[in-house]
Amino acid sequence: MNVATAIESVRTSLPQGVGLVAVSKFHPAAAIEQAYSVGQRAFGESRVQELLAKAPILPNDIRWHFIGHLQTNKVRQLLAAGLELLIESVDSLKLLSAIDAESVKQGRITNVLVEAHVAQEETKSGFAPDELLEYFRSGQYRNLRATRICGLMGMASNTDDTERIRADFNALARLKENIIALAPDLVDFKHLSMGMSDDYLLAIDAGSTLVRIGTAIFGPREY
Ligand SMILES: *Cc1c(COP(=O)(O)O)cnc(C)c1O
Repeated sequence: MNVATAIESVRTSLPQGVGLVAVSKFHPAAAIEQAYSVGQRAFGESRVQELLAKAPILPNDIRWHFIGHLQTNKVRQLLAAGLELLIESVDSLKLLSAIDAESVKQGRITNVLVEAHVAQEETKSGFAPDELLEYFRSGQYRNLRATRICGLMGMASNTDDTERIRADFNALARLKENIIALAPDLVDFKHLSMGMSDDYLLAIDAGSTLVRIGTAIFGPREY
């Protein structure tokens, strides 16, 4: 199946109100162009160098979603590229502060999601749910000067156990609601980014507003 056909087929399975991020990491710019040609505008990348190599040779109305672990020492370079950007993978207060400070310096506003860790694997990154609840309960987010927190991102456990996956997505959905209850003035906190190629239908059942799909669109990645 080619990229255009695959993307149409994923799209028909998405209810209204659920956005599609085509995860293009490890795939060439030519693959992104194929998706772009059938109207796809949001793409997901996980490495700063790779994103900065691809973006300049692609149309400038692409919206880039950064979904990988972001090192604080790469923030300046990422923001300086002047891309339309949503950093979905903010996984520490240190990173959030670095993004905010750099955004002030560059005179821009940066949109982010906070990443929560609910899955079984220790290897996955993200805030512990309690840590996020404490952050929003304390009102510290009001100190951000140039960062807009637009919602929550997360992943389910990497398992065939459907009930476990559902439980993880439900936990993320509950966390989103709890954060909204603690921080009702956070008017941009709307997104719940969850669901990948193998589990996005379960994520949508649980309330996902944004699915991040790579393999089902572009085929397997060659690392
Ligand atoms: C790679 C990646 C995806 C896409 O995974 P697929 O299984 O290929 O759909 C989604 N989210 C994140 C955070 C990723 O790193």
